[in-house]
Amino acid sequence: MTGILRDGGCACGAVRFTTRGEPDRIGLCHCLTCRKAHGSAFLPFAVFAAEQVEVTGDLADWESSPGYRRRFCPRCGSRVVNANGDEVEISITSFDDVGVFAPQYESWVIRREPWLPPLKVPQWSHNRGD
Ligand SMILES: [Zn+2]
Ligand SMILES: [Zn+2]
Repeated sequence: MTGILRDGGCACGAVRFTTRGEPDRIGLCHCLTCRKAHGSAFLPFAVFAAEQVEVTGDLADWESSPGYRRRFCPRCGSRVVNANGDEVEISITSFDDVGVFAPQYESWVIRREPWLPPLKVPQWSHNRGD
């Protein structure tokens, strides 16, 4: 498989990943689970096919909904990759470089913090496509 390589990892460095090629899509989620799991107002993520992503280091995980596993570094607690069937979602803030990707849509905007303005991208009240 060809394509640009991009590196990232958890905060402590015990878990590292490399992605190859471009993501299928890039979203930003305001749902309660993303907010709580990431300790953040929202989760911006890039979606890759599983075979585009290589991960090294131990990961713990939590199945937050059927088939959707949020994987994190057991040492520092950073959420690193979310596995969803044959796709992998990676927070765009887990990459080593700043400004790698920008969201193309927002989902669960009914949970947006009122002080946070919307981006100029398609807005979904719940999941993308709902
Ligand atoms: Zn770590
Ligand atoms: Zn979410």
